Amino acid sequence: MNFEEHAAKVLLKAHGLPVPEGRVVESPEAVADAARALGGPCVVKAQAPTGKRGKAGGIRLAGSPDEARAAAADILGMTIGGHRIERLLVEEQVLIAAELYAAVLNDPASRGPVVLFSAMGGMEVEEMAAADPEAMRRIEVDIAAGLTARQTAAALAGLDLNGQTGAIADLLAGLYASYRALDAELLEINPLALTEDGRIVCLDCKFTLDDASAGRQAVAAQTGSPDPMTALEAEAHTAGLKYIELDGSVGVLANGAGLTMATMDAIEHFGGRPANFLEIGGEAYTKAETALTILLGNPNIRALLVNFCGAFARTDVMAEGVVRAWQKLDPGIPVFFTIHGTGEDEAVALVESELGHRPYDLMDDAVRAAVGAAIGGVAREAAS
Ligand code: GDP
Ligand code: MN
Repeated sequence: MNFEEHAAKVLLKAHGLPVPEGRVVESPEAVADAARALGGPCVVKAQAPTGKRGKAGGIRLAGSPDEARAAAADILGMTIGGHRIERLLVEEQVLIAAELYAAVLNDPASRGPVVLFSAMGGMEVEEMAAADPEAMRRIEVDIAAGLTARQTAAALAGLDLNGQTGAIADLLAGLYASYRALDAELLEINPLALTEDGRIVCLDCKFTLDDASAGRQAVAAQTGSPDPMTALEAEAHTAGLKYIELDGSVGVLANGAGLTMATMDAIEHFGGRPANFLEIGGEAYTKAETALTILLGNPNIRALLVNFCGAFARTDVMAEGVVRAWQKLDPGIPVFFTIHGTGEDEAVALVESELGHRPYDLMDDAVRAAVGAAIGGVAREAAS
């Protein structure tokens, strides 16, 4: 789950990190009031769970409440990164001496947290890497030991930081502690500003919460911006079904998260792309019609692949639900079955007698056939 800047900054502040004073408002008049209350030059910032607002014109400096009101009128209603801007953060304007970069994130390569720091911040990470790949300092953290002062000192060695090296080391320690306390996947400060009056301030913040922690971070999660669901995803959610929309042409109905993921990997392996997937278990018997209606509701679906592997759940019971629903809905697209495990013989016989084609013995063959039907040709042979 992502957070808008203002929500992330509330969390940073609660964990003792320095953020500018500010207020979230929704109208140009309220922006002018907020600017007046701050009592000096301010910044008017578009709020959306996305970066690159500066380049899109969503960040404006204002010297007076009137200028702030005018900036707000320009920014409200803009669309940035697919989000319509309906809220603004009005903050005290900071006099920037230098823009730095700091982040803590989950690093798949080292299988642990990594702290990143650069003395050249304020631009996109990609631009930073292109400008000077050596500039980004990287600290791999042993999650049991935590971030050590020695590691941080070594990472900052040799950088010209306006005599603020010690304060920046403290800030990185605080950022790492916040990342841990908040169950963050990513906590990124860009820019981290050194101010002309010698302070260090987190001017922007990107925070991604590990969704698995939404329960124990319940208070924080309330202020996050959940990814918007598609209409079909919302329908599935209401029906208690796990459904995700993708952009290919092969629909997937499978039981269990692992089998569903493996089925989608196999589709890609044979040159196809999943249109969507719906993960179903024993409830296939009772909810197959809803499940199929949702899967087939995606206009890009050209073929459906049904992959069941039964252990405790009986595949013949699941298959019966799907076969009955298929007969009732009678969709005009081909369906390909592959069924293994408990109840397999009965399931195979049922599909064959009711739908007139035998499920594939091998999952690969079913996937290849579904991909071929969906892309209107023959599926690519698997690369050996
Ligand atoms: P982003 O473009 O979405 O990443 O938005 P940021 O919050 O990072 O702001 C973009 C840029 O606006 C920063 O890199 C700064 O250069 C500038 N900016 C933001 N706040 C202030 C401020 O208080 N004072 C000054 N002078 N510039 C600011
Ligand atoms: Mn930024």
